[in-house]
Amino acid sequence: QAKQDSRGSFHFFAPEMNARLQERRALEQDLRRAVAREQFRVDYQPLMDLRSGRIAGAEALLRWHRPGHGPVPPDIFIAIAEETGLILPLGAWVLTAACHQAARWPAPLVVAVNVSPIQFRHGDFCDTVEAVLRASGLAPERLELEITESLLLQDTEAVLATLARLRALGVRIAMDDFGAGHTSLAYLRRFAFDKIKIDRSFVQGMEEDANALAIIRSVVQLSRTLNIRANAEGVETPEQAEILRQEGYAEAQGYHFGRPVPPEQFAALHLLPPGSHPPPPGHHVPPL
Ligand code: C2E
Ligand code: MG
Ligand code: MG
Ligand code: MG
Repeated sequence: QAKQDSRGSFHFFAPEMNARLQERRALEQDLRRAVAREQFRVDYQPLMDLRSGRIAGAEALLRWHRPGHGPVPPDIFIAIAEETGLILPLGAWVLTAACHQAARWPAPLVVAVNVSPIQFRHGDFCDTVEAVLRASGLAPERLELEITESLLLQDTEAVLATLARLRALGVRIAMDDFGAGHTSLAYLRRFAFDKIKIDRSFVQGMEEDANALAIIRSVVQLSRTLNIRANAEGVETPEQAEILRQEGYAEAQGYHFGRPVPPEQFAALHLLPPGSHPPPPGHHVPPL
């Protein structure tokens, strides 16, 4: 009886598992091909200075349109890129694209680039950053590297040394998704981050959830005490923006200020002087 059951479940599950494995292998193969051919795009989402109301820069967000399938969310393909090591060439590609893009923007606008822990822990990460800065001509102060708490869970001494080397170059370091994972306040003590970005789950909960609002408040207080810039992610309404401004957040980003968009659209929406009109066809403007 039992034998029949186990055989039955074998017949039931095996094809499904097989299909999932095959799909995963195909996805990996497509990703590998896309990395070799550099078939990615970077979108840019504005970072807003809440005090001046002006744009402070943009976060670079990687986009992959998988041929025959459509866009794949970065959370999905970046996880695969991390498992396969593809994140190393892919991460270097994003960094290069973002720095060359930002070098065309007016100073002092910054570009924020997400860095995977695997990339960060790789021996020549600092050299890559240095080389990309030199090649693009972007001032180091205009590059911000976003790292997540998971980076700090292992190899802390080596990680702190890399952070210090990057800082010595003049590059800024932001802690992304603050509060979402295994936050340890001790990390804030061991390394002087330039910015903490509170996770968007707190921003999106703060109007109904008193606990979320309390955390929003204590993070900005903490940032003030430690002299770190505070950013709030995922701002979708003017009400949220106003609360954050009043609470003392220096910076915010979210659909309310602008969605991530391709560089041409980013320049047209956020970098052209207000009131200016698109040039007539044929009129030459230097690309932003
Ligand atoms: P993240 O670094 O925390 O980026 C912010 C995410 O929030 C982006 O999702 C952005 O599109 C989304 N977002 C921005 N404003 C709003 C809003 O008002 N409401 C909502 N609901 N969402 C908002 P996206 O582009 O899907 O990226 C997801 C994650 O993938 C990123 O989270 C980052 O961890 C990772 N990622 C993206 N690009 C790269 C990259 O070039 N390298 C690495 N290592 N990771 C990347
Ligand atoms: Mg980020
Ligand atoms: Mg984030
Ligand atoms: Mg994230």
